Amino acid sequence: MFVLEYKLKGKENQYRAIDEAIRTAQFVRNKALRFWMDNNKVSKYDLNKYTAVLAKEFPYVNELNSTARQSSAERAWSSISRFYDNCKKQIKGKKGYPRFKRNARSVEYKRSGWKLDEQTKKHITFTDKKAIGRLKLVGSTDIYFYQPEDINRVRLIKRADGYYCQFCISVDVKIDLQPTGKCIGLDLGLKYFYGDSNGNIEANPRFYRCAEKALNKANIRKSRKFRKGQKQSNNYGKARNRYARKHLKVSRQRTEHAKRVALRLIQSNDLVAYEDLSVENMVRNHKLAKSIFDAGWSKFREWLEYFGTKYGKVTVAVAPHYTSVNCSKCGTAVSKTLSTRTHKCPSCKLELDRDINAAINILLMALRTVGHTGTWEGDNLLNAWGEKTSTLVGSNTCQSKSSR
Ligand SMILES: [Zn+2]
Repeated sequence: MFVLEYKLKGKENQYRAIDEAIRTAQFVRNKALRFWMDNNKVSKYDLNKYTAVLAKEFPYVNELNSTARQSSAERAWSSISRFYDNCKKQIKGKKGYPRFKRNARSVEYKRSGWKLDEQTKKHITFTDKKAIGRLKLVGSTDIYFYQPEDINRVRLIKRADGYYCQFCISVDVKIDLQPTGKCIGLDLGLKYFYGDSNGNIEANPRFYRCAEKALNKANIRKSRKFRKGQKQSNNYGKARNRYARKHLKVSRQRTEHAKRVALRLIQSNDLVAYEDLSVENMVRNHKLAKSIFDAGWSKFREWLEYFGTKYGKVTVAVAPHYTSVNCSKCGTAVSKTLSTRTHKCPSCKLELDRDINAAINILLMALRTVGHTGTWEGDNLLNAWGEKTSTLVGSNTCQSKSSR
């Protein structure tokens, strides 16, 4: 299963219609959530049925395709079930009680409500009463390469630089590679991307710092135009959009980089081990500072696991405790402050960069626990498509076709 994405080209009134569909989907999701809060023992099925009640009550809900209404209710259900799961697992701290959404950016259709143009092979028409109409698909990959029945879901997304259409396609392809006989452990760093158990340091890509400067500048320009307690000017709106576009660019660059590095690691190793930097682990972790990179890291990890499944390689996430303290050769605990950059073992005289030492520890821990792989899947709940797989947008562009 993978996702194909196209930019959409249409008229201004069509874009407004998409906005309206997104607003309605958000309304349905929030209403479903409210229904769950106000009633006892509401099931996923009850929420689905409730969308029909909403359609009768509100004309603009009725205008939205019935499968899109259902996906909105399913979105509400996925945040509810995540909350239930957290309670069941008795994790410490906040359980993530579902919240109302205010700025939804997408609406999702299932198998109806849309139609691809068999003639031009470059257009999609939305057939519900939201009047979105016929839109042009801009992108290099040919959606007609796939059978319409392979397309599970179609999603419309609003971004700072326009509107996009995603197709979720359920075709599974696995690729077998010759084993390389190599294993690698990664220690995620702050000053660099990662240090590995072979003693290499992968530097951070340069755009991290460049982007930071550009983002700050755009942010300052935006705040200068902000008027407190008044209606915002058009110029403020423009500055805000410029800022949002810069963010979009950075996040795309990040994704590209994470994808490239992950693919290389998976292709040249049979086993890749890394720290399980889940939120619960991080709270108790001295590496708290790494939470800054949390978003980037979890993306990187998703790509590692995605390619791991695709190429039949093993990926292991280990608990990050003591990985930087213990000696990777003899196991002696050697305490260090954050500023101690080298690991010096008093008993076996090992001297090593602290992060390389940690990376080796991570690999050793992984090799001890290879029995339990795919830890991520257990912890991670449903993905954005409501399915228990790592489905990543653009995964097909790295290699010809892909699997889940
Ligand atoms: Zn030692």
